[in-house]
Amino acid sequence: MNRELLKSFSNWLGDGPRIVGQVRISRAAESWELRHNDDSGELTTYDRWQDARALANLTEDGAFRPIKTIRDLRRGWRLLLASVEDVVRALDYFYPAMLGLWNADSRGELVVTDLRETLARQTGMYRVTQKITDPQAQQLCASHCSLCMKTMLWKIDPAQPITSLAPEKHQRASGDSLPLLCREACNFLIGHARTVVKKAEKEALDAASPQTSS
Ligand code: SF4
Repeated sequence: MNRELLKSFSNWLGDGPRIVGQVRISRAAESWELRHNDDSGELTTYDRWQDARALANLTEDGAFRPIKTIRDLRRGWRLLLASVEDVVRALDYFYPAMLGLWNADSRGELVVTDLRETLARQTGMYRVTQKITDPQAQQLCASHCSLCMKTMLWKIDPAQPITSLAPEKHQRASGDSLPLLCREACNFLIGHARTVVKKAEKEALDAASPQTSS
């Protein structure tokens, strides 16, 4: 485990309670308790950091959660862990890589990549995403990134910020909440960018084709 990250997180956590995404972390006697932030009352108890994997993977209805930062974390559980190290390990299942990005950001070392640069790296079936127009990209962010809890740090390109989302989407959480940071477009968004471009290409093709009469 990264000792410097552990120290930073431990300092931030203090005696709790603190929030990471939809997870609330607080002291419970000699343990740390993690639970869904909206939960209280009777809950099923787990006691291994590895249990976080199963808790994070499926929605309430049993569907796989490909994007862990969408607000669909299941409820009804509490996870009791013996150490801050175990809390960090569990959080890496709930919100993969988020503590590392937060720590890098706190140190002023987080590298942010704008959308055009991310798209320029795409190859194979995703190369076509480079054709997405700026308005299409803005609309894509509005429809998909609005579902996600991360703070968006990147722009379309250095001269063009994302204007289709609420201003709060670009502001880091503070106080008791650890900011979840988006430093570049994720695979989920790139996949949908491909769908947008392919659909637009098909529509343009259909519009250009001579109408067939019956
Ligand atoms: S690009 Fe970032 S903000 Fe948008 S859905 Fe993906 S992770 Fe969330």
